[in-house]
Amino acid sequence: MSPLTALLIDDDPVVHDLINYHLEGVVDRILHAEHPASGIALATHDMPDVILLDIEMPYMDGFQVCRELKQLSLTRDIPVVFLTSDNATHHVARGLDLGGVDYVTKPFVAIELQARVRAALRTRRLIELLRVHAHIDALTGLKNRGALEDGLARAAAGVARKGGGFAAVMLDVDHFKRVNDTYGHGIGDEVLRRLGATIGVLCRPTDLAARYGGEEFALVLPETTQATAITVCERLLEAIRQIRVSAPGGEFGFTVSAGLAMAGGDCPADDVLQRADEALYHAKGLGRDRLVIWAMAPADEPGA
Ligand code: GH3
Ligand code: MG
Ligand code: MG
Repeated sequence: MSPLTALLIDDDPVVHDLINYHLEGVVDRILHAEHPASGIALATHDMPDVILLDIEMPYMDGFQVCRELKQLSLTRDIPVVFLTSDNATHHVARGLDLGGVDYVTKPFVAIELQARVRAALRTRRLIELLRVHAHIDALTGLKNRGALEDGLARAAAGVARKGGGFAAVMLDVDHFKRVNDTYGHGIGDEVLRRLGATIGVLCRPTDLAARYGGEEFALVLPETTQATAITVCERLLEAIRQIRVSAPGGEFGFTVSAGLAMAGGDCPADDVLQRADEALYHAKGLGRDRLVIWAMAPADEPGA
């Protein structure tokens, strides 16, 4: 875990000393800025867990700083606790309306300051938890489609930066409708859970495995050659053939079809999932339970 970090933006050096003293043990690390601009720079660079922000500063007041922090995607979700002198609490409403989570009045009451910072850190953890869960498919625990799209964009950016390529795979359960019709939706769901678990186990930590939707799954394998991707897919298909699902009439197995396409070189990263899906479609047509690698259709070949 990265150290819990607070950023203090306040023009008064005495406040920096006090905060150092009072927040010892509440956070692991305190970053200090005495100017609004350097505070914003530190916030975007170090991504602290909480920001303590003085309202009354020369040049740019705390409200303006807060407004900027809330406009930047990097710092938007970092809780801001305003610091205000006790004769200026009428300011506080405006600060909270601008997105601050709380305020503390100067001179500080130590236990109150500490409790409010701890509360802000709890808010931060909840936001992070939400962000993680927003990317996870609830049934299988794999990534969801939104996370897949982020992962594809990252892989594409990697190719643009470093060259090379990556592999994309689309997987679809064969005759899944029959499973639902024969055993019921609950056991259909169990098939998807078991499939998700098997995919999760066989993927490397750098691979991205996602439920694309329904009974379709997608893999993004960064910095992977076609030969390696084929090995990964064949191993996965074999592991899936071994799965046994319990049902009232006894256990049963199932298969998936897979399409593989390579990005980089002549395939733009944006098209790769579409190509993998075309290959998957061919795998279905060829009898299912197999891997098909995307290849340019003869009519599309240059000079053909
Ligand atoms: P094919 O081999 O051609 O892929 O045939 P299929 O029956 O697998 O494909 P089809 O697209 O006809 O049917 C997919 C079925 O998957 C239909 C839908 O009810 C079911 N399904 C989609 N999402 C879920 C889910 O979350 N749980 C369950 N139990 N079924 C689902
Ligand atoms: Mg299917
Ligand atoms: Mg389908």
